[in-house]
Amino acid sequence: MQPTLIVELSDGVHSGYGEATTNTYYGMTLERMRNALESVRSLVEAQDQIDPQQLWSATAESLRDCPFALCALDQAAHDLWGKQQGQPVYQLWGLDNSRTPPSNYTIGIDEIDVMVAKLKEVPDWPVYKIKLGTSHDLEIIRALRQHTDATFRVDANCGWDVSEAIENSHALKELNVEFLEQPLPAENRDGQKELLRHSALPLIADESCIHESDVAACHGYFDGVNIKLVKCGGLTPARRMIDTARELGMKVMVGCMTESTVGISAIAQLLPLLDYVDMDGAALLAADIATGVVVERGVCRYPQANGSGVQLTSS
Ligand code: MG
Repeated sequence: MQPTLIVELSDGVHSGYGEATTNTYYGMTLERMRNALESVRSLVEAQDQIDPQQLWSATAESLRDCPFALCALDQAAHDLWGKQQGQPVYQLWGLDNSRTPPSNYTIGIDEIDVMVAKLKEVPDWPVYKIKLGTSHDLEIIRALRQHTDATFRVDANCGWDVSEAIENSHALKELNVEFLEQPLPAENRDGQKELLRHSALPLIADESCIHESDVAACHGYFDGVNIKLVKCGGLTPARRMIDTARELGMKVMVGCMTESTVGISAIAQLLPLLDYVDMDGAALLAADIATGVVVERGVCRYPQANGSGVQLTSS
């Protein structure tokens, strides 16, 4: 069971939905997110027309310490806006979703036989993201490689040092690994710069890219960034971060927490703008709470519906 916050914005006819998962690492409890949203209730209710960007600007300062709540509100505003306009959000942004990158499926860090068993439970995904950070990381990848030819991405979650990362990058390239996500701790800026010079694989920032301003700070240290909507405060800042990354010639990924279909459908609106995506959140859940975008074996299927396409199944 993972508690998650669902925000509903309604104009009396349409309802838009947004989501933020709870997160102990960031201290984001349901109560804290609820209180943060109550503090901007009058600001939200004062809007006579839903303009997601405008609503974000009006509430961002008050919700600065609670980007998860800001994200859920911003997603709900986009979903409502699209439903009012009678179009999917990606279409209102002028995007074409006929060619989108496949999502990976994440295999969490565990004993090797458990990781192999997990991989075999979800066959036929084109890409798997493997969480590493043990003393036997190469052994894990070699074991998994015996069971699939799919592309692997590796997320070391800050678990390596520079020489280890350089060495592993060469070995992992041979094992058809596509990139390394955050191999070093975020504070090791000098090491990161050195790693960028010597790594055999592209480097994607995760823990080093949280706020909007972090994209520019990652330039010259990473090849790309992994943007998470709850950490940056929603789709509105995420789009600006994508633009900045492109101007700097960097790769762009969007990642998820363990969102239900509500949060995953919001991510899907950005998909045509991305190189890589990690949107397996709802696929990892035993029970979902909404219908909308479906990710099956890495392929994102959009519903014939407006906004982000979300409908709660319980309502
Ligand atoms: Mg990561």
